[in-house]
Amino acid sequence: MDSEQRRMLMDRWYAFWRGFWRGVTMPGLVLVWGIALAVIAGMVMIRVRGCYIPVSFGVFDVDGTWVITENGDDEFFRLESEGRAFATMWYGSRGGTAGLWGPTWTRHVEEIGGYPRGSVDMAAARAALFDHMLADGWRLDPLLRTRDINRTGVNWAGHVINAASLFVLCAFVGSARRCFVKTMDRRTRRLLAGECPKCRYAIAGLPTPVCPECGERVE
Ligand SMILES: [Zn+2]
Repeated sequence: MDSEQRRMLMDRWYAFWRGFWRGVTMPGLVLVWGIALAVIAGMVMIRVRGCYIPVSFGVFDVDGTWVITENGDDEFFRLESEGRAFATMWYGSRGGTAGLWGPTWTRHVEEIGGYPRGSVDMAAARAALFDHMLADGWRLDPLLRTRDINRTGVNWAGHVINAASLFVLCAFVGSARRCFVKTMDRRTRRLLAGECPKCRYAIAGLPTPVCPECGERVE
């Protein structure tokens, strides 16, 4: 491919995108882009979240059977007064999203912690508490049965929202600008577009402010 062909291809490429952008920023679309911006802003606000739910339990080893109590309820005190070994354990979950505009990062932390009172197999106590909570209707990550979960991830949907928002913002500004330009008189409009106000000859980079085509002063 010689340089002439390459330049022709490049010109066609630019012409395509100029045409695309002129279509997108049609003054009549300013309302559409404005409404789309408001809708996107609303979606972003709904996506903000973050919470921490610590709950604590007494996990008792009753002659080889695990009994789970709420920390501090009647059964807890009854079993404790019998002098049984137990573990004080808690469950916590927190997470959130971060991003400049759309949420592009998500973080999820879920943990079961605890300490033994007496001789307690903590791994078995953890598994017993996990099974108990699951049967109780808690929605837990299956991995939590053996280990804590600490995940940070990329939110691709957020990146798409960011890109789409940027596009809509540019389109909105472009349309609004052209709405504004439409209200200007023809002379100003043509001068802004780099054309001679009389004959529309391209006047960019002229050495003197005179149209070489028709002799109009272009200032
Ligand atoms: Zn001219």
